[in-house]
Amino acid sequence: MTPRVVGRFAPSPTGPLHAGSLVAALASWLDVRAAGGQWLVRIEDADAPRCPPGMGDVVLAQLAACSLRPDEAPCWQSRRGDAYAQALAALVAKGVAYPCACTRRDIEGALAARGVALARDAERVYPGTCRAGLGGRNARAWRLRVPAGTLYWQDRRLGAQQQDVATAVGDFVLRRADGLWAYQLAVVVDDAAQGVTDVVRGEDLADNTARQIVLQQALGLPTPRYWHGPLVLAADGHKLSKQNGAAALDLRDPAAAVREALAVLGLQTARAQAPPAELLQQAAAEWGHRWPLPAAAHNPALLQVSLQDSPKENP
Ligand SMILES: [Zn+2]
Repeated sequence: MTPRVVGRFAPSPTGPLHAGSLVAALASWLDVRAAGGQWLVRIEDADAPRCPPGMGDVVLAQLAACSLRPDEAPCWQSRRGDAYAQALAALVAKGVAYPCACTRRDIEGALAARGVALARDAERVYPGTCRAGLGGRNARAWRLRVPAGTLYWQDRRLGAQQQDVATAVGDFVLRRADGLWAYQLAVVVDDAAQGVTDVVRGEDLADNTARQIVLQQALGLPTPRYWHGPLVLAADGHKLSKQNGAAALDLRDPAAAVREALAVLGLQTARAQAPPAELLQQAAAEWGHRWPLPAAAHNPALLQVSLQDSPKENP
């Protein structure tokens, strides 16, 4: 029996889809259709204050206009708080999640005290202040105790990848000080709950992968395969995003929008003249030849995931 293939598109409805988000949606759809699998949509509205009311439905309507319809009712992260709370409780029970009382200023102070120079946009690697307890301070957030060592995995498009999460990011946040669930936890819990075998998304999200695999391993969840795709760049060379004012998709001619996205993905079908549904069928066949799935589906060993043992701390 061929293993089931499940892919997903997971937009944050902070605004309508733009040309770049259609590329990501289309890539995940093509990948699943080429394998005869199931395509799901997850509305990542866990960060509710950033998502205007009704925008999730706008996004779903935009997808439908491009003939991209999920095979199941969409999953809404804003309704998944119980599942995230359960996952956090499981991590706490295993002793791999702990409360943190640090403000941003505390973290910067601790890093400065260690002589770490901070560039304005540099990642603030959490210095581990609260690993040994809160020292009477009030808990603000929850963090994952990240094991030391380099994580290796295979990206279907980018090839061999590696990151030492402990030194690159440090113990990252699972639940934020404002009570909202952190992106990494929500993604990992939902990918597992939806049975996602294949994560296909934009390259801008590639550097989340190691954190997500660390979290999957901490929760005893399977690791999907990953394919990180090309981004649409704005005229200034930066990634097209809602933050830099990317225009909403122009869907007066959905076939034209789909062809443009196919061109970004480097598919010849971009030149075909056909209605969107037909374009999509042709493109899925082309995708299947271009990006065949590795033979064994859903097998973390294939991903060469390895995590060295965490050294004992302050025994
Ligand atoms: Zn702390």
